[in-house]
Amino acid sequence: MNCPYIKKCGGCQLGHLPYDKQLKKKQESVTQLLKGFGKVDPIIGMKDPYYYRNKVHHVVCNDKKGNGFTGIYEEKTHHVIRVDECLIENKKADEICMTIASLMKSFKMKAYNEDTGYGFLRHILIRTGHVTGQILVVLVVASPVFPSKNNFVKALRKVHPEITSIVANINNRGTSMVLGEKEQVLYGKGYIEDVLCGKTFRISPKSFYQVNSVQTEILYGKAIEFAALTGKETVIDAYSGIGTIGMVASDQAKEVLSIELNPDAVKDAYANAKNNKIKNIKFVKADAGEYMVKMAAQKQKADVVFMDPPRAGSDKKFIDSVAKLAPKKIVYISCNPETLKRDLGMITAKGYKVQKIQPVDMFPGTGHCEVVTSLVRK
Ligand code: SAH
Repeated sequence: MNCPYIKKCGGCQLGHLPYDKQLKKKQESVTQLLKGFGKVDPIIGMKDPYYYRNKVHHVVCNDKKGNGFTGIYEEKTHHVIRVDECLIENKKADEICMTIASLMKSFKMKAYNEDTGYGFLRHILIRTGHVTGQILVVLVVASPVFPSKNNFVKALRKVHPEITSIVANINNRGTSMVLGEKEQVLYGKGYIEDVLCGKTFRISPKSFYQVNSVQTEILYGKAIEFAALTGKETVIDAYSGIGTIGMVASDQAKEVLSIELNPDAVKDAYANAKNNKIKNIKFVKADAGEYMVKMAAQKQKADVVFMDPPRAGSDKKFIDSVAKLAPKKIVYISCNPETLKRDLGMITAKGYKVQKIQPVDMFPGTGHCEVVTSLVRK
């Protein structure tokens, strides 16, 4: 990959390598970590490994002349590198970031300065719908008072009429969290919709959504294939986000229960089930581990469990309880092979055997690798 920012930006650890070498490296590292559990299938890469990120996050800054620019934190620092076009980010989203930066001066809008606490615009978050083309722009600002907000929205939409929604997110905290609690919709619905595996999903600013839509269809396809559903199963989709995996599985299952901690994601999930006219799915807003403990105490059972935890992986509480629910199959979707290894150790100690290990490259350029693993009860 021929990226001008590669030396400073911490985003793409493998960006200096041609794509086939990146895939080889990921295959080797996943195999090295997981070979003790079984054969690791060949990684599924992308045909076109560029501009795939449907979610783009840029930090906003001022240069010495007071002009706005946006970019990415330099690796392990809070120094911002100006990035006009990133090779893995949606191109339109990067164009919109540049437009916002260019409007700042005429609107007397200052970038927020982390050291002094002065200034207004902190971050820009853009989500683009891969199929629908809808675009949501989230302006993360330091104060609830947005000067000339209607004119700013108008000026931005004049250059980019393709933007379907604009939201102000208010973050006046001194933390490294990008998004604050409060939101104000400035234009449109406040979310985008996109289509994945034939279903339509609404995605709000704070909900998790897989960043690489092309590879997500492959990933979910593998997860569903490994589950080998027949239409009779009671399925749990743990760490369910906006309900994507459970809803894709619902066509081939008796019933699905989705468990997710983030309230905005659960709200999206309800709306998504209704929109897609899915009747055999339920959602709970809970810590997946704690909820599974409750289910196990009530002697509930499940036939198939999908689990897709964040990078930190799952926990002992969750895995102990899964074993009590005694599903025939567990399909573990992991974005971190290290925590996957730890968790597979715990799951296999509970009477499960690894059947399939399938790496999928969701993040070309970066050092990250997604892995779908299926386990059966011995
Ligand atoms: N399966 C979804 C989401 C995966 S990301 C998808 O493919 O889009 C992981 C999700 O786990 C996030 O939505 C996050 O909010 C949620 N999460 C994190 N910790 C959790 C916990 N302890 N209990 C339940 N959900 C949790």
